[in-house]
Amino acid sequence: MHLPGRSALGVDGTGIYVHVPFCSKICPYCDFAVTTPGGGRRRSYLPAILGEIGLVCRDAWRGAPPPAPADTIYFGGGTPSLLEPDELEEILGALARRLDLVAEPWLGLEANPEDVTPRRLAGWRRLGVRFLSLGVQSFDEDGLAFLGRRHTAAEARNAVAVALAAGIETVSVDLICALPGQSPASWRRELEIATSLAPQHLSCYQLTVEPGTPFAVMRRRGRLRELPEPAQGELVLLTHTWLAERGYQPYEVCSFAVAPEHRSRHNPKYWRHAPYLGLGPSAHSFDGQRRWWNLRQLGPWAEAVARGRRPVEDEELLTPMQLALEELMLGLRTVEGIELDGYRRRHGVDLVAANRATCAALGRDGLLTDDGGRLRPTTAGLAVADAMARSLDLEADGAVESAEAGSSGPRA
Ligand code: SF4
Repeated sequence: MHLPGRSALGVDGTGIYVHVPFCSKICPYCDFAVTTPGGGRRRSYLPAILGEIGLVCRDAWRGAPPPAPADTIYFGGGTPSLLEPDELEEILGALARRLDLVAEPWLGLEANPEDVTPRRLAGWRRLGVRFLSLGVQSFDEDGLAFLGRRHTAAEARNAVAVALAAGIETVSVDLICALPGQSPASWRRELEIATSLAPQHLSCYQLTVEPGTPFAVMRRRGRLRELPEPAQGELVLLTHTWLAERGYQPYEVCSFAVAPEHRSRHNPKYWRHAPYLGLGPSAHSFDGQRRWWNLRQLGPWAEAVARGRRPVEDEELLTPMQLALEELMLGLRTVEGIELDGYRRRHGVDLVAANRATCAALGRDGLLTDDGGRLRPTTAGLAVADAMARSLDLEADGAVESAEAGSSGPRA
């Protein structure tokens, strides 16, 4: 039985995320669940992830009816390119045998530039990888050294070129902006190099200093000074305007593609509250109302699987208010924005009626458009999407409470 109501979200199917937690070296800004591959850790991963798939297939949605079959699979990390293509193939085979997938799911893979070799590219193509996300982060040697990356700028350029030459359908370049002291001119230079290589997709993130990372320690000791917020905003706006002029259209705050067919088909599932199933240490899953997540550390995760127990650490049931807020925050980060009728049906909130003055002001400032059916951020609005979402009210007409009582969400 498949869940009803998914079509109302404009989402086709479930996404599967596989977390590969290894990195040859841990970057000082990273707060993902990662570890180095030594000490037998690398060897323990494949049997454990295959074991988890075996456990999950018995009741993938933990008592809830299954949503639509999975139509995307994404290997993220960590560094999935540290797995050999044969190992990826084993995981894909287990997913196909054990879980409900469409015939040819869209397949994405994250890779570090130093792992991109003709042999691996041939393997990834053979497996059907359609979206290769390259963790370049910077084309500048000083930037790469600051970020603690192992590859050089020349290796990064070469990785993009050989991936494109190998015929991967979409090659994506990940870049990080707002490094301390970065000027608009130096960031523009990064964008120039990236676009001169002509990848079909770019992801441009802002540097954030996460608690518990070496960068957080450096900041505390006064050895790292983040770029002030206005300067960061200037770089984000520059990214959007500069890339749009060169044919890279944004479809989310950080994501740009030369054509709709080169957009990620997996990440929009997170933005649109579609169901997704996460496998591997720290991976999160979501069924439309409930979110659960795996044990974060590789050792306890693998031990739980070895004991025949699903390695889930905890779960939360999202309240109607949380669902409404998340959909607002995530929707305003995308060019599709928020479809107002659907939002009203799902959450009992008339966003425009509840925020008439704010919407009018955002419209006058050139940040938001309202065509009667959708609230959409403009290019300038995308650059301040989070602040814009925070300025909107969900409770002006008390509608969320009535949504709670009426339970008009997709799982009702
Ligand atoms: S390569 Fe990526 S996942 Fe690995 S440590 Fe660096 S930032 Fe984190």
